[in-house]
Amino acid sequence: GSFAVGKTSLVRRFVHGLFSEKYLTTVGVKIDKKIVDVDGTEIKLVLWDLHGDDEYQRVRISYMRGASGYFLVADGTRKATLDQALVLQKSAAENLGDVPFFLLLNKVDLTREWEVEDEDLNELFESGWNVLKTSAKTGQEVEQAFQSLARDMVSEAKAK
Ligand code: GDP
Ligand code: MG
Repeated sequence: GSFAVGKTSLVRRFVHGLFSEKYLTTVGVKIDKKIVDVDGTEIKLVLWDLHGDDEYQRVRISYMRGASGYFLVADGTRKATLDQALVLQKSAAENLGDVPFFLLLNKVDLTREWEVEDEDLNELFESGWNVLKTSAKTGQEVEQAFQSLARDMVSEAKAK
């Protein structure tokens, strides 16, 4: 996702249960780990926090390789970040093929500033995309997002 949509905050919320209003500058790539339970099996998630600004394009693609799944993160209070996420999805699909992904519209706690209407998402729903509205601040849907992606990655691996 784009700058400041909340990628690092979402990982921080999920892995450490913490949130900070401060902007946490991420240089290059940040890796975190967490074990989740999928139907009684422990799955070790290795989380790569990658940003999608153009100057990092080359870095991003090489780090992306081998991922079993991914989140696209947009900031629901800045509609342009949704457009950016759609561009990133094309790049991810080219590099990773058909692996599970979820679109996260983050900062859902900021209801008054919210810019993304449900009708903006119709096409995505029609294409079968998984879309969740999250908040790294309140924790809304964060655990569910990671659990759901882990579950889909396990199903995908079993199907192979
Ligand atoms: P990144 O550049 O995508 O990694 O974005 P960060 O995780 O560093 O977050 C950018 C800014 O948005 C920081 O000031 C965070 O505190 C804030 N932020 C991130 N997620 C949320 C959220 O869900 N709600 C609110 N209100 N602020 C958030
Ligand atoms: Mg970051």
